Amino acid sequence: MRVPLVDLSAQYRSIRRQMNEAVLEVLDGGSYILGDRLEQLEHAIAQGCGVRQGVGVGSGTDALQLALLACGVGPGDEVITVANTAVPTVCGILATGADVALVDIDPSTFTLDPQSLAAYLEAAERPERIKAVVPVHLYGHPADMEPIQELAREHGLWIVEDVAQAQGAGYRGRPVGSFGDAGCLSFYPTKNLGAYGDAGMVVTSDDGVAETLRRLRNYGEASKNRNVIRGFNSRLDEIQAAVLMVKLDRLEGWNQRRREIARLYGELLADSSVEIPRDAPDVHHVYHLYVVRTARRDDLQRYLAAAGIGSAVHYPLPIHHQEAYSHLGFPPEAFPHSVRAAREVLSLPLYPELSEDAVHYVCEAIRGFC
Ligand SMILES: *Cc1c(COP(=O)(O)O)cnc(C)c1O
Repeated sequence: MRVPLVDLSAQYRSIRRQMNEAVLEVLDGGSYILGDRLEQLEHAIAQGCGVRQGVGVGSGTDALQLALLACGVGPGDEVITVANTAVPTVCGILATGADVALVDIDPSTFTLDPQSLAAYLEAAERPERIKAVVPVHLYGHPADMEPIQELAREHGLWIVEDVAQAQGAGYRGRPVGSFGDAGCLSFYPTKNLGAYGDAGMVVTSDDGVAETLRRLRNYGEASKNRNVIRGFNSRLDEIQAAVLMVKLDRLEGWNQRRREIARLYGELLADSSVEIPRDAPDVHHVYHLYVVRTARRDDLQRYLAAAGIGSAVHYPLPIHHQEAYSHLGFPPEAFPHSVRAAREVLSLPLYPELSEDAVHYVCEAIRGFC
């Protein structure tokens, strides 16, 4: 048996007819950029995230950059995020011209540790520079938003949520993306809602932020040929909007399926020597990734590969160990929970079309290894 980490073509096969029709309709229609389909999609996704507005942009990275810019973040400012995240979180922050500061994660959820944030804010030498915090709902598990909101209020920070891995997730009964001033979605093909190319969106209930975003993404135009701010070209095209509309109807079912597969993994691995992921109380986890941890991670990954099982490490280096970010000046031993996670985590195959037989096969292999 061969079990890949993800299989995007299996999903396409399951929706092929409807998808092909939807894409061909766009080609026939003659409107390819900033059309009706994007508006429908923005409306539907904003509603799903429990906010007033959605603004489609070119990618999740662009969503972070433009959302922070729309909140007024720029050169000379500082934005805080976690050391254990996907590199694009940091790319989006730095693209605004602001500096990035890092804090550690809570090792039980792999998301921003409010105590680490509090300690950083407490000790900051120039607190007036700190403008925003970017909590990341990593692997589909929501960050602990309530204490983060409290700290942000206390210190006057904007909150821009990185929702790239967690569309459909919830925290204390509310969807992620609705806790901050803005939430940033990615429709990178492997995400829970994936386009057939690059796309992203910012969701927000702040009409001013949304208006600025609509200008930023389209050369800074307030209306045709009236350019009121310096802008960019970062748009979500009609073909990707049509693709995402077809898939959006199925997102909840797919997320449910991810949760069922995660539950099965949890049962089958309960008494193995790998540590399985656990949901914090009162969260709705959407399992973008099923991440186990073990001190023998590299051996386990090789063992699984030999059994025909795909796996991956998200992420092998914390941000401050990446060559590109060594200039940030953090010592290698900083953020110990992030450093340890990078050595121990392993993502197992997980996608809605994965069969239960395949999950049993993966778990037998893991138990064999243990
Ligand atoms: C995928 C991802 C992004 C970036 O999304 P792109 O659409 O690839 O630009 C940002 N943050 C996190 C946590 C991600 O997983």
